[in-house]
Amino acid sequence: MSTSFQTIRGTFDILPDAYTDDGGTRIAPSAEWRHVEATVRDVMRRHNFDEIRTPILEPTELVARGVGESTDIVQKEMFAFERGDTQYVLRPEITAPVVRAYLQHHLDQRGGVQKLFYLGPCFRAEKPQKGRYRQFHQFGIEILGADEARADAETIAVLMAVCEALGLSDLKLRLNTLGTPERREEYVQALEEYLRPYANELSDTSRRRLERNPLRILDTKVEHEQKLLRDAPKLIDFVDEESLVHYDEVKGLLTDLDIEYEEAPRLVRGLDYYTETTFELESPGLGAQSALAGGGRYDRLAEVLGSDEPVPAVGFAAGMERLFLALDAADAERPGPPTPDVFIAALGDDAEQWVFRTSQELRNEGLHVAHDLMGRSLKAQMKEANRQKAPYAMIIGGNELEAEAATVKEMKSGEQEEVPFDELTPYLQRRLEGNASGGAPA
Ligand code: AMP
Repeated sequence: MSTSFQTIRGTFDILPDAYTDDGGTRIAPSAEWRHVEATVRDVMRRHNFDEIRTPILEPTELVARGVGESTDIVQKEMFAFERGDTQYVLRPEITAPVVRAYLQHHLDQRGGVQKLFYLGPCFRAEKPQKGRYRQFHQFGIEILGADEARADAETIAVLMAVCEALGLSDLKLRLNTLGTPERREEYVQALEEYLRPYANELSDTSRRRLERNPLRILDTKVEHEQKLLRDAPKLIDFVDEESLVHYDEVKGLLTDLDIEYEEAPRLVRGLDYYTETTFELESPGLGAQSALAGGGRYDRLAEVLGSDEPVPAVGFAAGMERLFLALDAADAERPGPPTPDVFIAALGDDAEQWVFRTSQELRNEGLHVAHDLMGRSLKAQMKEANRQKAPYAMIIGGNELEAEAATVKEMKSGEQEEVPFDELTPYLQRRLEGNASGGAPA
């Protein structure tokens, strides 16, 4: 079979089975996605976070302002379009939308601090490569309304808890403080003054950043530039006393929680609204796409989005595709695809009709039931039961219909038993329970 259509570059299908994409990356099957999502949801529940779902379409202006005009995202990576007189963008991240929703719906009036999590697709027109897609998936949290260092530490703790629950270790948490925007502005000026005489030696990217967003030059991977930066003014020397106290508190709390971190004085984030604590979680084995998650405090975003009051806030965003790369590298345990509890094979028209009806009844009782839909031979049906890895198969033919009892076969041992039709549900439930608890079959 064939089609002339393909997924758009930088996007991918999630299929029942794992497959390898054109770039040689394993794309996890839907069961693994469900597993990761369920793990995220469970960790969020335990940490008392409530889910928020915002639209994929947002006003372009929200992203331009919220993410920052000078960022790569706004400069060149937005999927934006116009219809009528509305400017739309496919959301490139979910923090600005969550803060928009918080302000729009006055979520502060729910009382206390709002602890929200999200999970869903984001879109960025980046150059597709391993671990970098145009449609990718993020999950993350935002804690809105708390300026305490404990909120920063809890944010990091939740991220680490998700990774631990998934079986990821050997991660590197890099931590820094950006201080207040006012002090950072002074620092940026000093950095710019320092770098200006070297402008001709800088890469094109860094030279552009020198004009638009000099702070981002600290991110450089170019060795020569890294060397230049060694003697550059240091951000931490510009951070005021209050911010330093906050930063110390965060570090103390992480130590209390046995969360290891590495101070990364040149870690800055591409987004303009970040303040104080900033962090990144890396899986060092992953090469160029080693960033699993990033986050930090963004106390100034609400005002950027028009709030007349500041809303202290902290959060993180993690990339699901990167998590899968890390899970693959760590060979972490993940569930296989779901298998039917029982496969019911039918011989003849009457049996097929019975099987079709009885399957629905068993399904209504909560059992996962498979049967043939192609009128195939018994042999083909049993082969299909094997392929689908059903632990039990049931064979229904004329004799079984007459006796009102099914032949139930345990696939592994090949043992068969006659089970009256009206005892099928409890029988199967008992046997499956025995399997699940590892006990001997009843
Ligand atoms: P950011 O919002 O840029 O801080 O991204 C947060 C996380 O999302 C990153 O650490 C990555 O794990 C993930 N991420 C960002 N952009 C992409 C992308 N284009 N493809 C896949 N994952 C991404």
